Amino acid sequence: MLGGKRELLARGLYWSGVTFLLGSLPPRDSLLVLNYHRIGNPDDDPFDSAVFSATGDEFGEQISFLKRHVSLVTLQEAQAFIDGTLRDKTPRCRVLITFDDGYLDNYKLAFPVLRSHGVQGVFFLATSLVGSCCVPWWDHIAFLMKTARNHRFTLRYPAELAIDVVEDGITKSIQKVLRLYKRPENADPERFLLELKEKTNGDDLPGTMRRFLNWDEAREMIASGMAIGSHTHSHTVLSQLGPEQQRDELGHSRAELEQRLGIEIDALAYPVGGTNSFSEQTQQLAKDAGYRAAFSFHGGTNLPGKMRPYDVKREGVGDQSWTRFQVQAAVSRWNGSYWP
Ligand SMILES: [Zn+2]
Repeated sequence: MLGGKRELLARGLYWSGVTFLLGSLPPRDSLLVLNYHRIGNPDDDPFDSAVFSATGDEFGEQISFLKRHVSLVTLQEAQAFIDGTLRDKTPRCRVLITFDDGYLDNYKLAFPVLRSHGVQGVFFLATSLVGSCCVPWWDHIAFLMKTARNHRFTLRYPAELAIDVVEDGITKSIQKVLRLYKRPENADPERFLLELKEKTNGDDLPGTMRRFLNWDEAREMIASGMAIGSHTHSHTVLSQLGPEQQRDELGHSRAELEQRLGIEIDALAYPVGGTNSFSEQTQQLAKDAGYRAAFSFHGGTNLPGKMRPYDVKREGVGDQSWTRFQVQAAVSRWNGSYWP
């Protein structure tokens, strides 16, 4: 396997050369918003592995790399870029670090890294999850699939979907079920989960372990320079709700965050964040509820003059290799093109 190793080494050197070259070219004026969910090792976890963005060590490496190669900005600076009110107009690749959902590992693992580097992270909290042992739908779905006793079955709601874990493997099967759940026609999420529990014959949820950061921890994070935004109240996909319920999700979570944390809440991240998870109407409702910006999650970099304040693009950090992460960061810095 010597040849394989040599080839790997050559590829590593090639990419580090590319990274160096791109890193030395002038950066394009842009706002790249990176999005993380959980930090830790998915192999130790019975829930949704796909929401792990990096281990603690990887996250530390990523932040110190970004610190050297791009301008890591605060929510306030990003907001000024979005509004077009930035004072310092020097073209730079501005990178904002964001986290969705407020898992406990955000406080335990991500926060200490960010604090030690003097870098701000923006944590989007769903107010119903704060401090709770709750197992949200994506984790519930993954848990049922991982503990399933039946490996072949057909779901009927909201559309027919045949699942074959033996054929497709667990990762792909979970993705298929999650995709079905996220469809706007899924107007009765409870029914969906009941059917999945019945069809998989999976385990009952363990209910006593705290899984989300609490209000004291959020206040401590703010005191150390972190920012907080809303991720709605119940984390329901907004396009699955009527306008009244959407208004309630957006208004309630903002008011509760402001009251509990004593700060103004200007930013929102749509649950899920794909293009069909929010509508034009949702964007208007977010504006009416007092948010200055809303972050989506369907990829892309934000360029001056092309900003949509209620659809600020974000790129997910997932399980890419270290080399790929460096190349992506270098490419983004140089041409503003999105995380490939
Ligand atoms: Zn979320």
